[in-house]
Amino acid sequence: MGRESKYVAEPFRIKMVETISVLSREERERKIAEAHFNPFYLRAEDVYIDLMTDSGTNAMSAAQWSALIQGDEAYAGARSFFKFEAAGKDIFGYDFIMPVHQGRAAEKVLFSLLLSKGQYAVSNMFFDTTRAHVELAGARAIDCVTPEAKDPQIRAPFKGNMDVACLEALIAKLGARQIGMVNMTITNNSAGGQPVSLDNIRSVAGVCKKHGIHLNIDAARFAENAYFVKQREPACQDMTIKQIIREMFSFADTFTMSAKKDAIVNIGGIVGINDGSSDLVIKSKANCISYEGFTTYGGLAGRDLEAIAVGLYEGIDEEFLSYRIGQMEYLAACFDEEEVVYQAPVGGHGVFVDAAAMFPQIPYDEFPGMVLGTELYKEAGIRATEIGSYMLGNDPDTGKQLKSEFEFLRLAIPRRVYTRSHLDVVVEAMLSVKKRAPQFKRGMRITWEPPILRHFQAHLSAIEK
Ligand SMILES: *Cc1c(COP(=O)(O)O)cnc(C)c1O
Repeated sequence: MGRESKYVAEPFRIKMVETISVLSREERERKIAEAHFNPFYLRAEDVYIDLMTDSGTNAMSAAQWSALIQGDEAYAGARSFFKFEAAGKDIFGYDFIMPVHQGRAAEKVLFSLLLSKGQYAVSNMFFDTTRAHVELAGARAIDCVTPEAKDPQIRAPFKGNMDVACLEALIAKLGARQIGMVNMTITNNSAGGQPVSLDNIRSVAGVCKKHGIHLNIDAARFAENAYFVKQREPACQDMTIKQIIREMFSFADTFTMSAKKDAIVNIGGIVGINDGSSDLVIKSKANCISYEGFTTYGGLAGRDLEAIAVGLYEGIDEEFLSYRIGQMEYLAACFDEEEVVYQAPVGGHGVFVDAAAMFPQIPYDEFPGMVLGTELYKEAGIRATEIGSYMLGNDPDTGKQLKSEFEFLRLAIPRRVYTRSHLDVVVEAMLSVKKRAPQFKRGMRITWEPPILRHFQAHLSAIEK
């Protein structure tokens, strides 16, 4: 097998190691059966390469670890807060930057101030907790992603974009006053980590401004998005990553962010408000104090704020981003050589493999993505996440299994954690499963499920026919 694909070498060396062990195939078969074929029940130590998520699984740098020691744990006005705030203001250009303990906490603090019962929120695509917080605020969440996102084989540069015509049609139909918020998710996680162009953000902001609608950015992967903009949007090729970030954020009123992704830390989140004189500042502070903690720590320790202040800069370093996106491109190029179908072109934080293409004989309600995930674990101890009909769940009204647009298995890549050799193990395992795929007659069935968010807890078994 040729590994012709170019790999961008790591712009770091390794100072500390964490041992991971490989179980035998027999042991893995036993472990996954004991876990009811649900990877959330596996013990992490029984996994060799853990690609379940890139959230909070990052390796911190020597600079971040040494910053931890500087943590000022004062309840109010800690030195660490001012470092965090200065980094946030500098990078995003906003007047108001407040810490919270993770992304969904930022959503909880802000969305209840923007949305009320009976209203709507429109996004390119809502991430699942983001959708949940829209619904908890009494509103309904509507996705308006560009149609290109729905075909894994169309190689368009910005498959994360908002369909602006769809947004305008919704405003015309529902009335601008019924829309409490427009939300741009960058990169578009649920569409496969696909980027959003600067031009698209500008157009969406224009529509929002015209109709007086609040624009929020869900900023979890803002740095990866800026890197794609620089690579793929001709008007931006001479801008620095930071200039692109400033420009993207200048169009929005607020942002909510999980720092567990592009800020390269293990915990943390941010609320940003562009205009410091907005009454949202006082109201979001009040929410932060009730839900998270005082506004200068927001549910984090001072040391966490230090690590974020350093990580925000490491995460926007162009050399780092070229290596980071390079890992995805390497995996994708290997899959291209072997005709493994994935959401293409590859996104920012993982490769979304099309399990329906690998197992065309297995219907959506026998969960091809779960079959592929189970086989990859048995093959090489790799853990990944199904993003398809299994995760989507049942229709709340009829109780019938819903059919997802995609049957993906997501291989999410933690930042600075795995080397090229690990990626090669993933490729070998994928090919071995692909070779055996035609022999599978049936998929999996659910033997027990809880009423909501079932994918975290359900039990499954293989259908023996
Ligand atoms: C991870 C994520 C969130 C939620 O953040 P947590 O830190 O997991 O609470 C929200 N939106 C997007 C796009 C995300 O990727």
